[in-house]
Amino acid sequence: MSNSMSRRTFLKGAAASALTLATMNLGASALAEAEKSSAAATQSDAAPAYTGEVPYIEHSVVEIAPNLYCISEFYLVNAFLLVGEEKAVLFDTGCGIGTIREICERITDKPITVMLTHGHFDHSGGLYQFTDCEVYMHPADLGMNTGNNQFRQFYATSRGPVRFPGEKNIQAMLARIPAEEPEVVSLDITKPVKEGDVFDVGGSTITVFETPGHTEGSVAYLVEPQRVLISGDTINNSIILARQPNNETTLIEEFNRTCRKLWDLSDRYDTLGVGHDGFSWEKHLVLDYMDLSQAILDGDVTGQYLEFGIRAGDMARLRTAELWYQCDK
Ligand SMILES: [Zn+2]
Ligand SMILES: [Zn+2]
Repeated sequence: MSNSMSRRTFLKGAAASALTLATMNLGASALAEAEKSSAAATQSDAAPAYTGEVPYIEHSVVEIAPNLYCISEFYLVNAFLLVGEEKAVLFDTGCGIGTIREICERITDKPITVMLTHGHFDHSGGLYQFTDCEVYMHPADLGMNTGNNQFRQFYATSRGPVRFPGEKNIQAMLARIPAEEPEVVSLDITKPVKEGDVFDVGGSTITVFETPGHTEGSVAYLVEPQRVLISGDTINNSIILARQPNNETTLIEEFNRTCRKLWDLSDRYDTLGVGHDGFSWEKHLVLDYMDLSQAILDGDVTGQYLEFGIRAGDMARLRTAELWYQCDK
């Protein structure tokens, strides 16, 4: 996959969201900057290193439904904050670059509970800012690592060029990595969630659905009455099933069952709160992944082996869905 292809994909999601959603603050200028940088980067992939002043950047915040905010960590990864009458719930924490806790506390003074969509460090790496909070996750992801500053640096320099291109932006992200290495938080602090659990936060409920595929412990959180499914990396613009090379199909079958289950629920939600690439997506993306994974299983679509950034595996596309599978890494 070429860099320019991936940049177009990023802009498609970001631009669509910016047009349809109210930008609360912070987001519009950074988005415009991202688009400018992306356009410039597309013209020249060998941009010279940025040597000017490094700007201070913050998370972008977009209200995707009443009392439900996407908090984008410099377009690298999303978290979502639901503000109930009694408490607030933060779905994922980002990878811990910048101070997401402060952003949450600017939006609400309600006590915060954290619910992780899965254990990957880009979603759990900000946990060090929430060690005084209740944290929930599916126990199947317990063995994962919440990362450290070395991971944060790697993430900004490997994913930044795709998701928030421009050397100035990368430098700005690196400048927000905590100066002192934060405590590495073990996922053992989490309380378990399981299929069918319902949490009432006052005015809104959250229902848990187990959605294995991207990881064994991936879950989706249905937020009602907002009609939003927080789908994390289970369903987003580009999904990676980073296990089982050697042409095994078990994982694709599992992911297909997950898509089918989420599509069967689709009369209860309109919008997906996705882990990456744009703030939210229309629910048809679930159908596209269901059809794509079925087409791979049926032999109607065959992926092509590619290496791109931190990914290496077979990549296949159908409509808006892009799936990486049989991955070496
Ligand atoms: Zn992930
Ligand atoms: Zn992720």
